[in-house]
Amino acid sequence: MGKRLKMEIRGAVQGVGFRPFVYRLATGLGLSGWVLNDIRGVFLEVEGDPEQLSAFRERVRAETPPRARIQGLDESWLDPIGYEGFQIRTSEAKGTKTVLILPDIATCQDCLTEILDPENRRYRYPFANCTNCGPRFTIVLDLPYDRPNTTMRGFALCPDCRAEYENPLDRRFHAQPTACSVCGPRLEAWTRTGETLARGDEALTLAAQALRRGDVLACKGLGGFHLMCDARNEAAVGRLRSRKAREDKPFALMVRDLAAARSLAEISPAAATLLESAEAPIVLLPRLGEETVARAVAPGRPELGLMLPATPLHHLLLRAVGAPLVATSGNLSEEPICTDELEALSRLAGMADVFLVHDRPIERHADDSIVRIAAGAPRVLRRARGYAPMPVPVAEELPVILAVGAHIKTAVALGLGGRVFLSQHVGDLETPEAMNAFRRVIADFLRLYEARPALVAHDLHPDYPSTLWAEEWAVEHGIPSFAVQHHHAHLVSCLAENETLGPALGVTWDGTGYGTDGTVWGGEFLRGDAGGFTRFAHLKPFRLPGGEAAVREPRRAALAVLFEVFGDDAFAREELAPVRAFSTNERTLLAQMLENGLNAPVTTSAGRLFDAVAALIGLSQRTRYEGQAAMALEAAADPREDAAWPLPLVPREGAAALLDWEPLLRALLEDLKRGVNAGRLAARFHNSLVDGIARTAEAAGEMRVALTGGCFQNRLLLERAAERLSALGFTVLLHREVPPNDGGISLGQVLVGARHLKHLHGIV
Ligand code: ZN
Ligand code: ZN
Ligand code: FE
Repeated sequence: MGKRLKMEIRGAVQGVGFRPFVYRLATGLGLSGWVLNDIRGVFLEVEGDPEQLSAFRERVRAETPPRARIQGLDESWLDPIGYEGFQIRTSEAKGTKTVLILPDIATCQDCLTEILDPENRRYRYPFANCTNCGPRFTIVLDLPYDRPNTTMRGFALCPDCRAEYENPLDRRFHAQPTACSVCGPRLEAWTRTGETLARGDEALTLAAQALRRGDVLACKGLGGFHLMCDARNEAAVGRLRSRKAREDKPFALMVRDLAAARSLAEISPAAATLLESAEAPIVLLPRLGEETVARAVAPGRPELGLMLPATPLHHLLLRAVGAPLVATSGNLSEEPICTDELEALSRLAGMADVFLVHDRPIERHADDSIVRIAAGAPRVLRRARGYAPMPVPVAEELPVILAVGAHIKTAVALGLGGRVFLSQHVGDLETPEAMNAFRRVIADFLRLYEARPALVAHDLHPDYPSTLWAEEWAVEHGIPSFAVQHHHAHLVSCLAENETLGPALGVTWDGTGYGTDGTVWGGEFLRGDAGGFTRFAHLKPFRLPGGEAAVREPRRAALAVLFEVFGDDAFAREELAPVRAFSTNERTLLAQMLENGLNAPVTTSAGRLFDAVAALIGLSQRTRYEGQAAMALEAAADPREDAAWPLPLVPREGAAALLDWEPLLRALLEDLKRGVNAGRLAARFHNSLVDGIARTAEAAGEMRVALTGGCFQNRLLLERAAERLSALGFTVLLHREVPPNDGGISLGQVLVGARHLKHLHGIV
């Protein structure tokens, strides 16, 4: 007597070959029934011999396709109804959309082999893909994930592609973006005024020639345009820098394979895995020498950002050029990446000599993700292509909440049920283009998941454009908005990623965040959870002359801390590099600002303390990108040095304790006078901070300590602090797939917002 088994499978189960897998499994076991995708996941019914059915049950779980992730599986047993054969049914589109949209997946080995095989019909075809690889997030128009709901809907399958698409035994069975040179997207090479120079394979050859010649290429990729040039050509890299108005910030490189990566950087086994992963991010790696690529690629940096090709187009281009390529976002500095070829012509015309474009529309942008390996694991610093929009599972059931992030490195988040969907990196909300991208990403998220937020959470800073947007949007939609303190959001983001409710001590260190007292926070020790926090301790405050202007001038931060300790005498200390870096007139002006506190906001910023020390050691007086001085300080630190300067914790009655850097500053000046070298000084500073963190954690007495905020992108600080805290018996919580910087803020905002909403409704 047969039985019928019904299954409902949720998670990352669409666009990964799940239905063909079920088909092959069921038919192989002689079972009949059907399988279908709908907007909630994969549904199936199989019937037949009970033994074969139980084999089916086990193998569905054990042999899932490589890219699938099952997050929930319900099953029930029913009476058989006599199905004949096994069918893959067409998708249904009713109910709540809870299926996961997959990130874009880097070209698989099978597809790569095919495009390099002259006998294969996809030889040199730049848009080959299959159920195990290819575009997903960047081409989805709607759910369920089916070809008519992607930007491939305009390309009718040719007979050969259709046969593969319909054959359950083929690797391309129901591969929605599948294509070939007969029926799929095509390349064109354009001049900077949009005239066609070449089509198809010739366009690729022409682009490769241009790159070899030293031209800058604007190349339409998976989630937007790259600007590319030969990384070995000093003049080409220099041209790209000046055209992009990007003076010092390192450029990422794309290399053809792991062997090419090994010729440029030290590749650990973990790094090799990450480079070759389906996410294919930019990985920050210790470079082998200064001479392997043009000096202008990453001036003065001990690391190179390397990535492998993520699409057949990039594989073919890299092979045709035969050199590592600079591959930087197609935009002006810090603006959103360009996705459309006509828009690219106007926005990138001044930057590129040749355009390599294609006719597969990019529905939404996705920059390259950036990952650094620290404390034994990959840590995502910029979360975009390959990672977005995979949700972060959380330890509680959430109402629908939208969170809009802070100001720089913005990413938005949507809390839904037991998950928080984190958007791709949007960028710094400082231009109208960035604000447009911000609004577009929000509208896109709400539409895709058909979400109607019950609350919108934003940063506590009253003037951030994201705050203003959220407040207005809340009024328009008749829902509450809720301000979340910046460092509280950092703490809760770290708790959430670790599926911990807390409480914990959050060492939340960054450059800037609006405090509850209206001052600029940034060197905080917050004790709490999503429900609230107390400020247990913070770095000793100081006045920062020029406020935001000081962010690009570490010498100002140095003068600020010197003034705090020595008063006016600070300006006479000609032996100090940051003092010498100001003219007499400038010093008079600074003195006035500091004395009467005009345009000199009070801050406890750890980022600015890094700046001050970098300036005092003589590493950096002015910077050109965020975090540059801190990176220089980290890079300079001699890892063998274990001495530290005093950084005492001073308890105060009725107020947060102070981590007092004054003795640290005095010891630093003594060491400078003695001529201790910069490497040892930089290391001593890091070691002192680790001592200070450990001391404060012991005083707070919370067993869990979260290290979060932009300062923890610093590997030396992260590793030494984590190691020390673990040795002292603390449970240390670190970020992994959610950035420790402001790219992770919106996750924390969602959870704090959820708690607030429960209070409003009297649930907690
Ligand atoms: Zn493939
Ligand atoms: Zn075809
Ligand atoms: Fe921050």
